[in-house]
Amino acid sequence: MCDKDHCVLRTSFFTRNFGRRFSGCQHLSLDSDQACKFFRWLDKGPCPRGRATTPIVWERFKRLAAEAEAAKNERDNA
Ligand SMILES: [Zn+2]
Repeated sequence: MCDKDHCVLRTSFFTRNFGRRFSGCQHLSLDSDQACKFFRWLDKGPCPRGRATTPIVWERFKRLAAEAEAAKNERDNA
């Protein structure tokens, strides 16, 4: 069974909880129905600054990923 001894410290990357710290099972996966879902938040909720910053960080991340993909395609076509 999962308990705090089998958990690792993690940081949420989801928009609504961006930057929140939580303790989650080392086998935690949200992509699989059969994977472990055990986790608990270590804070009381997302801070207002984190909530305001999340869209900016995501927008920058998506732009950089698109630029990296374009550069890769340009290199592959050269
Ligand atoms: Zn587990």
